[in-house]
Amino acid sequence: MSEQEKFLRDLINRLAKLNCVFDTNVDFSKLSPFRIGGGSACVVVRIRSLKELQILNSIIGEEFYILGRGSNTFFRGESIQAPIIKLVGEFDKIEKISATKFRLYAGAHFDQVCRALSKDGYSGLEFGVGIPGTVGGAIKMNAGAHGSEIANIITEVCILYEGKLEIIKPDFGYRFSSIPSKAVILWGDIHISQAKTDMIMSLIRRNLDYRKATQPLEYPSLGSVFKNPESKSAGEILEHLGFKGLSIGGCKFSEKHANWIINYSKKGTYKDVEELLYLAIQRVKESFLIDLELEWVVLGSQF
Ligand SMILES: Cc1cc2nc3c(=O)[nH]c(=O)nc-3n(C[C@H](O)[C@H](O)[C@H](O)COP(=O)(O)OP(=O)(O)OC[C@H]3O[C@@H](n4cnc5c(N)ncnc54)[C@H](O)[C@@H]3O)c2cc1C
Repeated sequence: MSEQEKFLRDLINRLAKLNCVFDTNVDFSKLSPFRIGGGSACVVVRIRSLKELQILNSIIGEEFYILGRGSNTFFRGESIQAPIIKLVGEFDKIEKISATKFRLYAGAHFDQVCRALSKDGYSGLEFGVGIPGTVGGAIKMNAGAHGSEIANIITEVCILYEGKLEIIKPDFGYRFSSIPSKAVILWGDIHISQAKTDMIMSLIRRNLDYRKATQPLEYPSLGSVFKNPESKSAGEILEHLGFKGLSIGGCKFSEKHANWIINYSKKGTYKDVEELLYLAIQRVKESFLIDLELEWVVLGSQF
């Protein structure tokens, strides 16, 4: 038995003794809305409270991967050995702090949080309706759309890092936050304003209509594939090079939006996606001398 196998067996025994909720050998297709198969994660633990998280942290240190809803994570390789943890239970809530300040816990569904606060007459989260991740994923990735992003409303973030709880004010950039890769985001405070609900709802409807018209939402995907290179659109470049509709195995670049890979067959594997990615990166480099950068996080062997 290898060291890694021993570590996993020991971890599973300890998780069972601690009454933790976990699954073993979870197929990739169950971990993200992309529903891409071809491999599996050895252990996925659903952490229900800060106490559980701290216990796990004391057992395995930071040798785990924190996953939200997996809507920006590309799973790759036959097997992911590092334990994957998801925040549920007490991490799935919103708290009101003052008239215009809310605490969003990391496991809450970002789209639902944005809808709920918007319906209650709070403005500032209209952009987030339709983003299918968690609050934790949205903060980490600085999720944004329609000219706005979460960085505009976040005031403070609480993380568990190197075994300690810290309140930080991260720096944000284009789909980037300065939050350390091994930190677990527990919550983020936001400051939003009050406005007329009909104005908020009409902006949301406009944003959703735009998404429907321009994005292939009817198919499993991870949203946009590549970041826009400086002052250029990755979608326009890929469209120009004829990528729209290009398929390999069960996946293809969408006909609606060239910067989206869709698992149109719902049977695609990570290998199909890898080949599409390699092809795009190579052709764009050859034709435009541009190094495309993935918007996705890659989990498994590095791309
Ligand atoms: C149909 C569709 C539309 C989309 N539209 C948009 C859009 O308009 N704008 C946009 O920005 N994105 C968009 N996305 C991408 C994605 O939904 C966002 O990036 C989202 O914020 C990711 O959240 P998640 O919980 O799914 O993150 P995951 O994919 O689970 O994780 C992403 C990263 O965040 C980290 N992370 C997650 N939770 C935590 C935590 N609690 N603590 C520390 N790190 C954490 C993970 O480790 C990983 O590095 C879209 C995706 C899809 C499928």
